[in-house]
Amino acid sequence: MSKPKVAFFDFASCEGCQLNKLNLENSLLSILELVDIVEFREAMDDRADEYDIAFVEGSISTPTCVERIHDIRRRSKILVALGACAVQGGINALRNSQPAEWVKEVVYGDDKYLFPSIPVQPVSAVVKVDYEVRGCPMSTPEFLHILKSLILGRKPEIFDHAVCVECKSSENECVLETGMFCLGPVTRAGCGAVCPENGQYCSGCRGYVSNINTDGALEMLAENGLSRLEAVKRLRLFCSSELVELDGVK
Ligand code: SF4
Ligand code: SF4
Repeated sequence: MSKPKVAFFDFASCEGCQLNKLNLENSLLSILELVDIVEFREAMDDRADEYDIAFVEGSISTPTCVERIHDIRRRSKILVALGACAVQGGINALRNSQPAEWVKEVVYGDDKYLFPSIPVQPVSAVVKVDYEVRGCPMSTPEFLHILKSLILGRKPEIFDHAVCVECKSSENECVLETGMFCLGPVTRAGCGAVCPENGQYCSGCRGYVSNINTDGALEMLAENGLSRLEAVKRLRLFCSSELVELDGVK
């Protein structure tokens, strides 16, 4: 039986998710026994015409990105978005709240006309996404879970409950008790509450649960001592393309 053809693609991102894969070390050799990696710019020069599974990192930010992601989608049976930039627009999408011309001026100066851009979007805003690996950088256990499930023809487990649930089941001390704020109550689980586990607040890198109560989240952050503007900034950090209702909040 032939192995599934797997490819990795990158768009606007820091490429941390791809590096995370190269850091899989112990699992990498067993993955290579189960799949044929046919494209992966960070690691090889080969190209292929079709893919059983395409993993896509990064957000869509230029007209060329739009053409490329449509082309990848056409040639892929399954498309998986990898990491906060691909799933939610990520930190890149913060630029959408500023005037586009001003941003281009700041970044490219007199060369700004050489770099056409569009508002930053998650991959799912442009093409159908079958599965998501969340996190900034992406969660490697979740990546392995999704890859193994797809190889075995099973449906991967999808999380839509709050980080607090994982945090409580690990019996961590709640960081709210130490005076910090925490976005765990509204952030989508799946990381094992790794930040609170290590004494840090959750900054929401995995995006929010699907039924987030934005007003309740703002109230919770106000109770933690954050001004309204600071609370909005915290909530938008990784997910500004999802929380459009917060656009323009001063
Ligand atoms: S530390 Fe954060 S994630 Fe953990 S229980 Fe408290 S609020 Fe929830
Ligand atoms: S605890 Fe929060 S910030 Fe930390 S990895 Fe999980 S979702 Fe991301």
